[in-house]
This record gives sequence, C-alpha cells and structure tokens, in this order.
Amino acid sequence: MGLFSRDKPKIKVQTSKKDGFSGWLKCTHCNELIHTKELEQNTNCCPKCNYHYRLSVDERIKSLTDEDSFQEMFTDLEAVDTLKFVDTEPYEERLRAAKEKSGRDEAAIVGVCKISGQAVALGLLDFSFMGGSMGCVVGERLTSLIEHAIHAKLPLILISTSGGARMQESILSLMQMAKTSAALAKLQDARLPYISVLTNPTTGGVTASFASLGDVIIAEPNALICFAGPRVIEQTIGHQLPPGAQKSEFLLKHGMIDCIVNRHELKTKLSDILAFFTFENEGDENGGLARDASKVRVKKNQALRSPS
Ligand SMILES: [Zn+2]
Repeated sequence: MGLFSRDKPKIKVQTSKKDGFSGWLKCTHCNELIHTKELEQNTNCCPKCNYHYRLSVDERIKSLTDEDSFQEMFTDLEAVDTLKFVDTEPYEERLRAAKEKSGRDEAAIVGVCKISGQAVALGLLDFSFMGGSMGCVVGERLTSLIEHAIHAKLPLILISTSGGARMQESILSLMQMAKTSAALAKLQDARLPYISVLTNPTTGGVTASFASLGDVIIAEPNALICFAGPRVIEQTIGHQLPPGAQKSEFLLKHGMIDCIVNRHELKTKLSDILAFFTFENEGDENGGLARDASKVRVKKNQALRSPS
C-alpha cells in the first residue's frame, strides 16, 4: 500500500512536449494509439490502418514537388462580396475569419513546379479556407492556371478537396463550373494532359466540374467523392445508401475514377503518368510534350531497352 499512500511519487509523468508521453493520439478510424511524429512522417496517414487524414496545402506541395520548385502565381486576386450576402453572418466577416484562420487569402493555390524534373502547372484547393469552396477567385485562379498551361505547353495537375460551390457567391460561384470546364476543353484541344487528384472530401460543384474532367482521375483511399452528400440523398429518397457508397473504392468499382493511390506513392504515380504523356527533349528545360504518338513509342522502347 506504500505505493498508493506515498505523498510524492518517485515516478513522474512528464507532460511537456519534449518527453515520450506527449503527442499521442487515438486514430479515429482504428482506435489505435499513434504518435504525432509518426503521423507527420507518414504524410498524415495512420501507420496502423492507413487512414488518410487531411493534409495541409503546404505539406501537400512539399510531399509532391521537387524541393523549392513551386512558384505561386495569380496571387493578386481578391474575393469581393458583390451580392452583399448575409446568412447567419455577413460574407465579408466569413472571409475575414477564413483569412485569419488559414493564413491564406483564398481557397485555391496555383502555380508552376517540377515533379521528378518535369515542369507542371499545379493547382490545389485548401479545405481550411471556407471548406475549399469554389467562388469567383478560385474559379479565376484555376482558369488562369489552365490558360497558362496552354500557353507554356505544360501538363496540368489539380488536387481537389472541397465542399463545392461557395453559396455566399450564389450564381457567380456556379458560373465557375462552366468557366473552368470550358478552359479545360481548350487544354484538351491543345492536346495537353490533365491529371485530377481527388482527396477527402471532394463534393458538390467541384466534383460536377473540373475535378471529374481529368484525362486520368486519381483518388486517395477512402475519400468521400460525391455531388450531394449521403445524408442529403438519404433524406431526399427516404432510403439508406449501401455501405461505402460515394467512397473512392465504390467509385473505382463503378468506373468513375481510374485508380486509387496511397498518399506516399502519389508522387511516383504522378511522375510515371507524366512520363507516359510527355517526353524529354534535349535542350528543352521544360520537357517537350508528346504530340506525336510514334515519338512516344520510340521513347518508350528506348526506355525499355536501356534501364536508367
Ligand atoms: Zn488508424
């Protein structure tokens, strides 16, 4: 009983961040204990059950692009409350709060970068900024990026995570669906590849526009990808959806996406797909784009013959 009656226990449980006892989390998916460091090193995927937690835009850029190669573009655009929209609070207030919370000025970050040496136009949505919702600035940034990709002859990669169109911008946000889709049609006319990466969650007007228009559509495991969410559908039709409906695995089975890729393999997969669509031209630092299928075949055969 001495152990319990001792006034000052000899074993102290440290609670500072430096010791081994702090930083433990319980995975909400498998209920196992995981350490935050382990989670960070595993690009925010549970090391026990591979559940993919949300990744910040900065971490995403770091995990996908060559070191210090990302250059942000079209930063001089700012959301304007044209409709003077007020729901439970004014849109202007929401914008201000979102800027403070996320440290960003909008939900889309676009720019150019290199992935395994290949120059790419890269756009990402940021869920921490008003749920990654697509308003005028998001639509304009993505469209400007697509136009830049056409001009600079770059392949395009868009990484989506979004609650859909931004309701506070009403019809103006819905117009961004048509605008981004029309720009992508021009990209297709220019015969430039577009890879769409869907992460958890990708919903609403984003799913219903550019996110579903990729030449290759990749999803992260167990990601919710839908137009209307499961709760809304169940309330509308009065039936329960089958288990796993609207998740990546369900969509792959039904032909809506091309593949599911684990986050730690995503850069390699993107590099492989880019290499399939493009080929390096000597003396062209951006890499030439494969406009001639016969050249692709020659390059592919050369690659097969001489392992690099
Ligand atoms: Zn887990």
